[in-house]
Amino acid sequence: MAATVMDGKALAACVRAEVAVQVEALGAPVGLATVLVGGDPASAIYVRRKHEACQEVGIEAFDHHLPAETSEADLLALVARLNADSRVNGILVQLPLPDHIDEGRVLRAVAPLKDVDGFHPQSAGQLYLGEPTFVPATPSGVLELLAAYDVPIAGAHAVVVGRSAIVGKPAAHLLLQANATVTICHSRTRDLAAITRQADILVAAVGRPAVITTDMVKPGATVIDVGINRTETGIVGDVDPGVAAVAGLLTPVPGGVGPMTIALLLRNTVRAWNYQAGALAFP
Ligand code: NDP
Repeated sequence: MAATVMDGKALAACVRAEVAVQVEALGAPVGLATVLVGGDPASAIYVRRKHEACQEVGIEAFDHHLPAETSEADLLALVARLNADSRVNGILVQLPLPDHIDEGRVLRAVAPLKDVDGFHPQSAGQLYLGEPTFVPATPSGVLELLAAYDVPIAGAHAVVVGRSAIVGKPAAHLLLQANATVTICHSRTRDLAAITRQADILVAAVGRPAVITTDMVKPGATVIDVGINRTETGIVGDVDPGVAAVAGLLTPVPGGVGPMTIALLLRNTVRAWNYQAGALAFP
């Protein structure tokens, strides 16, 4: 039987609708600043989608698009101005940054209270300790999808393929917090298929088309495809489409984790507003 498709597009629309109600209820402006350096077309599309989503839910988006040759010092100066700007509740620095800029230094410069991407070491540390403030939007979207489709996590074996700081590691931590038994795989993992075949929940966050094939999936498993790969035939995930014949539940690409990422960024921005207004205690 073919896998049930997990509709991230529909779920994301519900999250955006919730956020719109929250923004309305605040009765005060909520602002998100986006910072894009250079002309990477994929990054420009992501930023544009974030702006459209902000507009939909009533969040004011402040657009900062800097030339590729912007110096690190100038970028840090902009981040400092945004940190000090009371109209800006959240700051999003679109990655990747050009090679001459130290990404880590820029992400550390974002005020933890405005770190809606959850990439600051303070946010990452709090996630690790189980007292999260801002959880990165993509792994958060993975957990929301699992919850929406009533996928049991406690006691399940979750295998996360990919260990980046923005997807793989936080996804693994969130699954661990939800009491899964978690295995993290990466490019040096030996016999990847033998491990993925044990997964009740398989999260693919690699960035290579069809890295997860049918023989790597346990029948009935829940497969979350985080990958976004641009190919000649369009955007594809990390999971071979044939996996639909084996998995119990499967996220599509596009229309799975991607829309959830944007919706949860908006939710984090409202959270930031609440922290800054003292309506929520900042841990
Ligand atoms: P990274 O390149 O930072 O990390 C990729 C990870 O995959 C690394 O840990 C790497 O291992 C591992 N890896 C690479 N090749 C293999 C392999 N053959 N077998 C097993 N593991 C392998 O990517 P990101 O985490 O940033 O992104 C992953 C994917 O998710 C990309 O396609 C990206 O576009 C997409 N993405 C989607 C988002 C969404 O909203 N849906 C948001 C963010 C990302 P090692 O550490 O050993 O190098």
